[in-house]
Amino acid sequence: MTPITRVLVANRGEIAVRIIRACHDMEMAAVAVYSDADAGALHVRRADQAVRIGTAAPAESYLNIPALLRAAFSTRCDAVHPGYGFLSENPTFAQAVIDAGLTWIGPPPDAIRAMGSKTEARARMEQAGVPIVPGYQGDSDDDAPFIDAADRIGYPVMVKAAGGGGGRGIRVVRHRDDLPDALAGARREAAHAFGDARIFLERYIDGGRHIEIQVLADAHGNIVHLFERECSAQRRHQKVIEEAPSPLVTPALRTRMGAAGVEAARAVGYVNAGTVEFIADAAGNFYFLEMNTRLQVEHPVTEAVTGHDLVRLQLMIAQGKPLPFAQTDLHLRGHAIEARLYAEDPRSGFLPAPGTLTAFSIPHMPGVRVDAGVTSGDAISMHYDPMIAKIIAFDSTRDGAIRRLDAALAAAIIDGTATNRDFLRALIAHPTFAAGEVDTPFIERHLDSLIAAMDSFAPSADRVTVQPEPARFVDPWARADGFRLGQGENARPGAAGAGQASRPRDGNVQGARRPLVGAGMLTAPMPGQVRDVQVIVGEAVKRGQTLVLLEAMKMEIRITAPGDGVVRAVHVQPGQTVERDQPVVELA
Ligand code: ADP
Ligand code: ADP
Ligand code: MG
Repeated sequence: MTPITRVLVANRGEIAVRIIRACHDMEMAAVAVYSDADAGALHVRRADQAVRIGTAAPAESYLNIPALLRAAFSTRCDAVHPGYGFLSENPTFAQAVIDAGLTWIGPPPDAIRAMGSKTEARARMEQAGVPIVPGYQGDSDDDAPFIDAADRIGYPVMVKAAGGGGGRGIRVVRHRDDLPDALAGARREAAHAFGDARIFLERYIDGGRHIEIQVLADAHGNIVHLFERECSAQRRHQKVIEEAPSPLVTPALRTRMGAAGVEAARAVGYVNAGTVEFIADAAGNFYFLEMNTRLQVEHPVTEAVTGHDLVRLQLMIAQGKPLPFAQTDLHLRGHAIEARLYAEDPRSGFLPAPGTLTAFSIPHMPGVRVDAGVTSGDAISMHYDPMIAKIIAFDSTRDGAIRRLDAALAAAIIDGTATNRDFLRALIAHPTFAAGEVDTPFIERHLDSLIAAMDSFAPSADRVTVQPEPARFVDPWARADGFRLGQGENARPGAAGAGQASRPRDGNVQGARRPLVGAGMLTAPMPGQVRDVQVIVGEAVKRGQTLVLLEAMKMEIRITAPGDGVVRAVHVQPGQTVERDQPVVELA
């Protein structure tokens, strides 16, 4: 037994707040860390003590291992919880914490390492008898073996980064001719984002469903699963809505997938909470994608349907306590759905919208949990992920959970920044969502009609300033007036702008509304750093061609040519920081 009395929470935002709450619930003290951008942040206010660890840039603060260890020592912590993101899946950090004599609230560094490379994880899973997607993982820099392999695998194929995460470095390729470009692009992006250019191929499971198994393992060899979550509602391979249980999963499939999740964990000597992600097809086949060796963003839906507190269990496991239940003690009850509320503007290509949340409140309602990292008056910083909160609705039925989620979103008072609230409402009101049939390409395929449907959810001005109405479930898909499914993109004003917020993507592209300043002057749609300038003065460019790549809030933002033309001037260079609306490129 290793008692824990004081936990350093090596993270920020909603997950830091969530962990602090669990510590207090278990009568442990919690120490927050913060960057200069977060000095007054909610997680700092909620902690028993807080330590500054560096400047706003993540590399200087939340990714700064020596500063985090110093913070733990100076406040006499005996354990470290890494949350998700940042250093949570960094085996060097885990090892450094252990070597410093502190308790690491997470899996053993070797398990993190084994699952940290998707290609190594695939090999380990294949050995353990866990089904993997047919693929190719040669480590040649040469394209030829990849092209041959893709012919064998069959198109469409997916190009993925071995060190990838957060949906980055992923490309779907439908035709042989497009493969070399995709390989080059994926290598470039992987090298930049993960410091590792290695890529591999997988068969693309078209119309697949993302289903993941929550596992828990103690230090005494006991491993259980807490059933599945479905996270097929994704945009650019990133989750938007998550739920438990999955409408696709039958009891028989649940048993098979649960067992595969447990086997995956056992194969790498896993301890603590982890998630094994699978892609499933309509025929009931499922294939291992990756294991996330940490607490997942969407863990609350599992808490709702199992009645178990996952962070509490993480703390118990880290103290060396045995799991308090066996597999047969675990039961599913009801249905839970989580929506990720972001400060981003769906009408402008989902451009992140940093700023001050002048108002933010979601009324207390039965069956609704809100995990937020901010309160009214707090800033959504341009330096980090633009998540405002997770809203989790629970009910005895799936329909009831959808209704409650919509009610919470409708009643939410949010002011100061653009958000994806109305987009979330349009999504969960869609008949395909109601039917439980959303697959991973669904959002991209229906983006235009979903964005068009947002209008019918926009609160009227008096609603915002006076009182939240008792929530009503509005169904735009059932409306008799003008709105139609599959409405074309010209229905959206401003769709032909110059910038696009972009992560690796396939399919539908959203143009951001970027006004041209003067004739042909293209400006930065938001503050960020110039990553690449892809044109030179005098060069002829085509409409839609990428001119400059910006990086801001973990997003890659492409500034593209609004029409054919010639580059008259380039005002920025790689590495440079730009302000919002700063001139970038001038076209003639
Ligand atoms: P997956 O990697 O399978 O998409 P999640 O959906 O749980 O898993 O998390 C997505 C990733 O987004 C996390 O690994 C983390 O890197 C990042 N992330 C999301 N929100 C935040 C946040 N508020 N702070 C730090 N990192 C975040
Ligand atoms: P990340 O580390 O970025 O989360 P994943 O391997 O988990 O990477 O993939 C992210 C998402 O991309 C999945 O949730 C799924 O929607 C999609 N995806 C990944 N691999 C495949 C595949 N072989 N076929 C179909 N979709 C896939
Ligand atoms: Mg994943």
